[in-house]
Amino acid sequence: MTPTIARVALPVPLHKTFDYLIKPEQPPAVGGRVKVPFGRQSKIGIVIELTDCSEFSVEQLKQIQEVIDHQPLWPQTLYRILEWASRYYQYPLGEALATIMPGALRKGKAASHNDEDHWRLTRNGMDMPSGTLSRAPKQERLISALKKGSMSQSDIQTLDISNPVIKAVDDKGYIERCAAPAPSPWQDSFQITEEKPTLNHEQAMAVATINANQDFASYLLEGVTGSGKTEVYLNLIEPVLKRGQQALILVPEIGLTPQTINRFKRRFSVPVAVMHSGLNETERLNAWLDARDNRAAIIIGTRSALFSPSHHTGIIIIDEEHDSSYKQQDSFRYHARDLAVFRAREENIPIVLGSATPSLETLHNAKTGKYHHLTLARRAGNAVKAKHGVLDIRGLHLEAGLSAPLIAEMRNQLSQGNQVMLFLNRRGYSPAMMCHECGWLAECKRCDAYFTLYQQYRELRCHHCAVQIPVPLQCGQCGSTQLISVGVGTEQLEQHLETLFPEYKTIRIDRDNTRRKGSLEGYLQAIHNNEYQILIGTQMLAKGHHFPNVTLVALVDVDSALFSNDFRAPERLAQLFVQVAGRAGRASKPGLVLLQTHHPDHALLQALIQKGYQDFSVNALNERQQAMLPPFSYFALLRAEGFESEPVEQFLHQARTIFEASPFESEECAVLGPAPAPLARRAGKYRWQLIFQAPNRRLLQQRLSLALPALLQLPLAKKVRWSLDVEPQDM
Ligand code: ADP
Ligand code: ZN
Ligand code: ZN
Repeated sequence: MTPTIARVALPVPLHKTFDYLIKPEQPPAVGGRVKVPFGRQSKIGIVIELTDCSEFSVEQLKQIQEVIDHQPLWPQTLYRILEWASRYYQYPLGEALATIMPGALRKGKAASHNDEDHWRLTRNGMDMPSGTLSRAPKQERLISALKKGSMSQSDIQTLDISNPVIKAVDDKGYIERCAAPAPSPWQDSFQITEEKPTLNHEQAMAVATINANQDFASYLLEGVTGSGKTEVYLNLIEPVLKRGQQALILVPEIGLTPQTINRFKRRFSVPVAVMHSGLNETERLNAWLDARDNRAAIIIGTRSALFSPSHHTGIIIIDEEHDSSYKQQDSFRYHARDLAVFRAREENIPIVLGSATPSLETLHNAKTGKYHHLTLARRAGNAVKAKHGVLDIRGLHLEAGLSAPLIAEMRNQLSQGNQVMLFLNRRGYSPAMMCHECGWLAECKRCDAYFTLYQQYRELRCHHCAVQIPVPLQCGQCGSTQLISVGVGTEQLEQHLETLFPEYKTIRIDRDNTRRKGSLEGYLQAIHNNEYQILIGTQMLAKGHHFPNVTLVALVDVDSALFSNDFRAPERLAQLFVQVAGRAGRASKPGLVLLQTHHPDHALLQALIQKGYQDFSVNALNERQQAMLPPFSYFALLRAEGFESEPVEQFLHQARTIFEASPFESEECAVLGPAPAPLARRAGKYRWQLIFQAPNRRLLQQRLSLALPALLQLPLAKKVRWSLDVEPQDM
């Protein structure tokens, strides 16, 4: 029997699907889009099932308005992952699917290449005796050009044949429009287009190990910057492309530079699809279609490129797998790295996670044997390792956060014509402004946070909401005019360095001055051209850029990371440290990395400095295990906010009760809270959170899925804003 009802996932914030009647003349496809009436509007959704039964009677059901796709949008394996992800991350399927599909498809555009029409000869045109059009030489020329094959309108124009000419020949019945011919498959012309370096022993081992098998297996490729990971990737992709399969490469947001893309383009004569958030709707759709229709052999992109609908994927590579940009921080809060491993398993292909500083989660998986651990310990070529040291700044006088030994070392390096880079993860002039007489601190009225002073703009800005106000002239408490800044931000550091080193040029790179598109690239180029000698930045400067002339890198303040509330802060500090150490200097000019701290004996810092990232990670994993933190347990974060504190807190109390009532053995799972969120008030809203903890993903998923329907029934669930973040990155 032919099914009469389609079950449709719609982009609405409801954890359910909707049934619609099928028009017999328009059979929908499972996994394809349909347009359906919804309330007074119509919406585009995905058919997830065709069936004959519904809990509603036929009279109650509406008909599908339009079937948009006659085939599924995604390969089945990918669709299964999306379904699983929707359940695991507790995000409604219809919304999840809408989030990850290109905007053009969300709006109902056709999922096919919009290739330009071509022209070809008709029967009459082919049979036309030459000389027939001798009085219209351009028309004659068009016909002889088309004898070699069809052409697009724009190609015809390049022959100096105008549209009226084309029309005239068309009117005579000699030519007609036709579809563009399919491009010839890239497999036919596959070539290696540059000379390959000979792999060193470690690289060759890694390549041989991974290429030995084409089935699912996960590999951690751990190697410092410059150890030749990208070269390994290229050698892994080569046999995949040779077999005619596609390669999917994910890179962090900040790492998707033209240089990276060009390395892949230079090596192989194959089309590359690039996917990132900067694409416009048409570009994004085209990249997506190229991946699906196998017009792209290499697909390289940020987080969401994981959902590329390639049908012939032969390998997945995640570069800088530790990077936090792989986790989506709002709406559909998936982790692209974790889903990538899932995808590789479903498609039975190898996956490679590369990093100089693997996440503790991935190291744990390598340790327990889930991932094969491959190491590139040596730097490729002849670069040397940077030296490093801890600057004990206890009791030292600090100038804009800089100690005298650091300033002396800066002077030493600068005088030799080298560049110096300073890291400070705090934007603005200073993180607070205080009254010198009574101690009052200027605080954002809408947030539980102090204002950041921006002296350059004579403004106080809140980094947590959009508020910015002129710098007050008087204390808000005692009226004194003696207001002073407290602490150091990048703006102050910049100003101070300009007076300290007037003979050198300073540049600051942080989110405040790189908002404009292309501005970051411009600064980086200027740094490479040696236009600046002193570089100040937040961590965005650390990622993906190599500065051969930088011989000194200083982390101005590591204490704030060592004593942060965020249990991942030390891991991120260690990663930053290794990243910058790996990027400074070159063979003839070894780099030096200095850390300023009041806690030179801190155990994690010592492990990192004395023995390196590997020892640090062993220590850090031990600490996580003792505290039962990830990866030794799995968290979900229920966060709620509202203009009144009480209903928010109450909602989370009710949520807690629901969780504790669920029928799984409760000793294995824990519920923590409700407690105020780290920023307890933001933009006028009170924020609370509740944490669920489970020993494994399966239990976490089961308990959340069981609790969610009851949670959604709570009257308060409709009154307060809340979100559920499964395996959150920031807590
Ligand atoms: P990573 O991705 O680990 O930072 P790359 O693959 O970019 O390292 O390698 C760093 C530099 O060393 C690049 O310029 C690369 O071309 C070069 N390189 C890599 N492997 C080799 C090799 N086996 N022989 C010579 N040069 C190499
Ligand atoms: Zn604020
Ligand atoms: Zn005061």
